[in-house]
Amino acid sequence: MNTTGKEVSLTGRCDLHTHSLSSDGMQPSSENVRIASEKGLAAVALTDHDTVAGVEEALIAGEKYGITVVPGVEISTRLEGKEIHVLGYYIDIRDREFLTRLETLRRTREERNIRILERLNDLELVVSMEDVVRVMGRPLEKDETIGRPHIADALVDKGYVSSMREAFDLYLAEGKPGFVSVPRVTPEDAFAWIRAAGGTPVIAHPGLYGNDDLIRKLIEHGHPAGIEVYHSDHGPEEEKRYLAMAEQYNLIVTGGSDFHGARQGVVFHGDLGSVTVEASVLSELYQARSVK
Ligand SMILES: [Zn+2]
Ligand SMILES: [Zn+2]
Repeated sequence: MNTTGKEVSLTGRCDLHTHSLSSDGMQPSSENVRIASEKGLAAVALTDHDTVAGVEEALIAGEKYGITVVPGVEISTRLEGKEIHVLGYYIDIRDREFLTRLETLRRTREERNIRILERLNDLELVVSMEDVVRVMGRPLEKDETIGRPHIADALVDKGYVSSMREAFDLYLAEGKPGFVSVPRVTPEDAFAWIRAAGGTPVIAHPGLYGNDDLIRKLIEHGHPAGIEVYHSDHGPEEEKRYLAMAEQYNLIVTGGSDFHGARQGVVFHGDLGSVTVEASVLSELYQARSVK
């Protein structure tokens, strides 16, 4: 398919961070590709949480709309008590071992979701897994993941909160009473898994962790290939800081909107195509992957 080094000659802009229904986005992955093509992007990456279930559909849509689709993933990890997200690009989505590893992560995620619902129930916010799936509007398909935004949607549906923002601020965010911390892999593990699957590891949205020393330590010990300098939740200050960091450690500079679609009419993070990088970044990512 359209992902084998053809990017070398590609020009234009690309959004390297988007989510679909396969995790906590609101639309099928083919829709991400359609929107990207409508916005005139040269390429779009699909980076769902702990799953590559939507990649195949996105690749097919890429052929249809004549735009490059980069297979990707976003893995949730933990380092010194902080949840750190790791992006992986150009992974082989059929790599057995990688798929098994992602499956383990999804199982942990399911256990966490159950514990979150228990916590909420203790707070007399009665939400069941059935409620969550009902509000999603469709049954969960194979290898898809349920995330906190889905639980937030159910809290809104039940009238306990008025918005997803409120659900996170009052209950679901780190440090709030509905937050459940589960054992996660380390970012270094995620880098290794991505490399073993022939991909290129990148630290996602470093500005969201509020701990640049930790990020520096991670770069020095884990040697990721890139860092997401441009992100919807980064301002000019963060961009400047992480650009300098990328330069210092010779990292590939990536960026993307972190598009999830709209919930109750509100787009969180950013709209698809609102944060982009030059398509030349794709050849850097492609060349930095470990060839299996
Ligand atoms: Zn993330
Ligand atoms: Zn994301």
